[in-house]
Amino acid sequence: MKEKIETFMEEVTARNAHEPEFLQAVQEVAETVIPYIASTEIYDGKNILIRMVEPERAITFRVPWVDDDGEIHVNRGYRIQMNSAIGPYKGGLRFHPTVNMSILKFLAFEQVFKNSLTTLPMGGGKGGSDFDPKDKSDAEIMRFCHSFMGELCRHIGPNTDIPAGDIGVGSREIGFLFGMYRKIRNEFTGVLTGKGLSWGGSLIRPEATGYGTVYFAASMLATKNDSFKGKIVTISGSGNVAQYAAEKAIQLGGKVVTLSDSSGYIHDKDGITKEKLSYIMQLKNIDRGRISQYTDKYPTAKFVEGKTPWDVPCDIALPCATQNELNGDDAKTLLKNGCICVCEGANMPSTPEAISAFHKEKILFAPGKASNAGGVATSGLEMTQNSLRYNWTREEVDQKLQQIMASIHASCIEYGIDKSGYVDYVKGANIAGFVKVADAMLAQGVV
Ligand code: GLU
Repeated sequence: MKEKIETFMEEVTARNAHEPEFLQAVQEVAETVIPYIASTEIYDGKNILIRMVEPERAITFRVPWVDDDGEIHVNRGYRIQMNSAIGPYKGGLRFHPTVNMSILKFLAFEQVFKNSLTTLPMGGGKGGSDFDPKDKSDAEIMRFCHSFMGELCRHIGPNTDIPAGDIGVGSREIGFLFGMYRKIRNEFTGVLTGKGLSWGGSLIRPEATGYGTVYFAASMLATKNDSFKGKIVTISGSGNVAQYAAEKAIQLGGKVVTLSDSSGYIHDKDGITKEKLSYIMQLKNIDRGRISQYTDKYPTAKFVEGKTPWDVPCDIALPCATQNELNGDDAKTLLKNGCICVCEGANMPSTPEAISAFHKEKILFAPGKASNAGGVATSGLEMTQNSLRYNWTREEVDQKLQQIMASIHASCIEYGIDKSGYVDYVKGANIAGFVKVADAMLAQGVV
């Protein structure tokens, strides 16, 4: 079996040699899915996985824009349309200087499995730009988004490809993108998700990724008759996912002690309360400040510059910042400090070394494609509401989100449990996500 996986990876590596993050994401899937394919007659010999690692379409385009001083800039725009076997392409847009083909292909590949797990009919895609929104004025952000959509609008549509937000793309950017799509195409349609409430958005969409991550962690803890009550929780990141993961963890009785951004992390031993969290939301979302400013307002907390929060002792760790933010050494520190549960809010935040350390110690570990699927699942619910031309209440959407997270958890157990009763959520998520897409691809033939 090892040889089969190696031969497969050699072929994928030869074709994508300069895409390390993409190869990392593929390797993780190959290790669990290739043995499953080999043991399942209907999939064996059909080259399904090698077809799945090749995007159906990858688009790159020029995004020219003018800054407030009249200077002209050019960024690169992308949309990776990875797989549409079970529904139109669906996945976020990321605006960050690190964006390149490797990052977006890894994200699009993960999205295929994640979207399949949600139980909703959504294929996988991802896009974005190497544009850096940091320190840009609202007018510059608007001009960039308008230029980006000027090209992207040719490739998307409510039945073709429905982008949403990701790092660097929030409600402000979705607004500017939607405005330009509506103008060029002359139609008001659910072509983007994460929209404002008065123009087609869904209640709970902003909260969904963070809430869903905590619902998933709560389900994992419940398998051990445990819960968030009284637990010390460390969270990385301070954007949309981290903020609402913190809010829900606090609601469920956890004590959240850290949040971070690219400059470092804050450690508040007394716990980040609901009130302190509203200060952070104002700071990050409205004032667009840095997390270090938290210590100006709450001087008993400390700011640790240039570090991630994984050396702070905790029971539960929720990595909600970005890919590869938690490495093998961090995993060892977490384990040494008695951490019992790591549940990913970001996409692929744990390195392969970290994941094997968690598996070796048999702690609860959930990969983002399962645990952070609440965001895209609620995007799916936003699409449904757009099609119905109707809005569900907060409670209705939250209840559906909870049902979806419970069903993803159940699928992970179905395919990930071993004889000893230990659940490998990575294996469970990969195989459960694969089966639905593979069945659709088999039914539709070689296209
Ligand atoms: N960017 C989010 C994710 O990684 C959400 C995508 C969406 O809502 O389409 O799943």
